[in-house]
Amino acid sequence: MKDIIIVGAGPAGLFAAYEIVSKSNLKVVIIDMGKDVDKRECPMETLGYCINCKPCNLLHGVGGSGGISDGTLNLRPDIGGNLFEYLNEKDAWDLVKYVDEIFLKHGAPKKMYKATSEEEEYWSRRAASAGVEFVQIPQRHIGSDNTKNVIKSIRDYLRSKGVEFILEKKVVEVKKDGVLLNDGTEIKGKYLILAPGRSGANWLKEQADKLGIKYRHGPIDVGVRVEVPAVIMEPICKINHDPKFRMRTRTYDDFVRTFCVNHRGFVVKEKYGEFIGVNGYSMKNKFSNNTNFALLVNVTLTEPIENTTLYGESIARIATILGGGNPLIQRLGDLRRGRRSTWKRIKENLLKPTLLNVTPGDIAMVLPHRIVTDILEALDMLDKVIPGVASDSTLLYAPEIKYYAIKVEVDENMKTNLDNIYVAGDGAGVSRGLVIAAATGILAARGILKREGFES
Ligand SMILES: Cc1cc2nc3c(=O)[nH]c(=O)nc-3n(C[C@H](O)[C@H](O)[C@H](O)COP(=O)(O)OP(=O)(O)OC[C@H]3O[C@@H](n4cnc5c(N)ncnc54)[C@H](O)[C@@H]3O)c2cc1C
Repeated sequence: MKDIIIVGAGPAGLFAAYEIVSKSNLKVVIIDMGKDVDKRECPMETLGYCINCKPCNLLHGVGGSGGISDGTLNLRPDIGGNLFEYLNEKDAWDLVKYVDEIFLKHGAPKKMYKATSEEEEYWSRRAASAGVEFVQIPQRHIGSDNTKNVIKSIRDYLRSKGVEFILEKKVVEVKKDGVLLNDGTEIKGKYLILAPGRSGANWLKEQADKLGIKYRHGPIDVGVRVEVPAVIMEPICKINHDPKFRMRTRTYDDFVRTFCVNHRGFVVKEKYGEFIGVNGYSMKNKFSNNTNFALLVNVTLTEPIENTTLYGESIARIATILGGGNPLIQRLGDLRRGRRSTWKRIKENLLKPTLLNVTPGDIAMVLPHRIVTDILEALDMLDKVIPGVASDSTLLYAPEIKYYAIKVEVDENMKTNLDNIYVAGDGAGVSRGLVIAAATGILAARGILKREGFES
C-alpha cells in the first residue's frame, strides 16, 4: 500500500512528488506510460512537434509533454493557466517564484528574459492606444539542449528521496483506492494525484465519468495561423521571445489573443485523428524569412450544449472536406474582398508561404462568420501596434483549433469531489503550461501534506 500514487510524470506529477518528499516521509509512486527521460528520443525533435511515434516520445515519459523540447518558463500566475482562481495574488506569485527556484536549483539558466521598464512602457502604451493589451511575461529559456538535464536532475533527486517510478506502463483504470495497470497489476494507495496531461485528457474524462468526479467542459480557441514577413515582427520579437497581445473585438466583444509566435519559423500541417489543422514551429538551425503566430478566438458554450470539443471538431471536419485533406490558405486581401485565393494569387503574392501542403481557398467558407469577423477586426487592431501585420499579402492558414481538456472541479488544493482523489496539470484543465502545471502539482501535494499533519 502506497501513501500517494501519482499518474503522470510530467511537470505536474514530478513537482507534486517533489513537494511531498521534500517535506515528509510519505511513500510516493509515479506511474507513466512513456519512457525514462534518458530513453526519450523523437525523430521530429528538432521540429518541435511530433506526430509519428507511439507512445509519442515528445508527449509521454519522465518530463511529460514537451519534456525533450525547448522549455520556456512563463513566470506569471495567469499565463499557461490561472492560479488566481485558486490563490490570492501574493500566494499565486509566491508559488510561481517557488516553482522557478526549483527549476533553477536543478539547472535552469539564471538568465531571465524581461523587457526593460522603458520597453515595457513603450509597447504597453502603443498597444493600449489601439485597444490591445500587451502582456509582459518574465521568461526563462531552459533550451532544448538543457531540458533533459534539468528533468534528469529532478528525477534523480526524487529517486534519492525514495520515490518509485513505474514506467512504460499505462494506468488503464482508476479505482477509489488505487489503480490498475495495463499488465494487470493493481496498486493500492491512500491518495491519488491524477496528472495525465493533455494527451491523457480523454482518458481522465472517462475515469471521471466512471467515478463520478465532477467537471465542466472548458472553452476552446478557434482561429487561424497568421504569417507575415519576419522584419515586421523583429522589433517586438527582439524583446520578447513569444510576445502576447490580447484584445476584445468591436462587433462581438469577443476575447482574441496571439499565441505561439514563431519568429523566422515555419507553419506546419497537423492531424488530429481524422481532421487536419495547422500549427507553427521554429528550429534551432534553420530559419525562414517569415514569422507566424496563432490568432485565436476564445469560445465558450452554455446550454443546450457545453461540449466545445464537438463544436471544434465540426469546424475541423468542414475544413478537412473543403481543403481536400489539407489546411486552407488565403491571402488576407482575398478574405477582405470575399473571394477565394488561388494558386496563381498565392504565387504572385509578395509573401511566400512556408507551408505548401495547403489548399488555396476561402476561410469564410470554413470558420463561422463571428470568428471571421473577430479575426479581421483583431488583425486591424494589431496592425496599429505592429504595422504591416494586416497587409493584403498577409497569409492566413486555417483552421487552428486549440482543444482544451475538461475542467475538473477542484478546491484550492486540487482536491476533487472525491475525498482522496486530487488532480493537477493540463489533463484536468487546471493548467496549460509548464510552470502552472508544476504549481498545481505542488498545490495538490500541499493539500495531502496538510491532511497528513506535515508542515508545507
Ligand atoms: C512540443 C511541446 C513544447 C512545449 N513547450 C512548452 C514551453 O516551452 N513552455 C510551456 O510553458 N509549455 C510548453 N508546452 C506545454 C507543456 O509541456 C505542458 O503544459 C505541460 O507539460 C503539462 O504538464 P502536465 O504534467 O500536466 O502533463 P504532461 O507534461 O503532458 O505529462 C503527462 C504525463 O502523463 C502520462 N500519462 C497520461 N496518461 C497516462 C496513463 N493513463 N497512464 C500512465 N501515464 C499516463 C503521459 O505519458 C505524460 O508523460 C509544450 C508542449 C509540447 C507538446
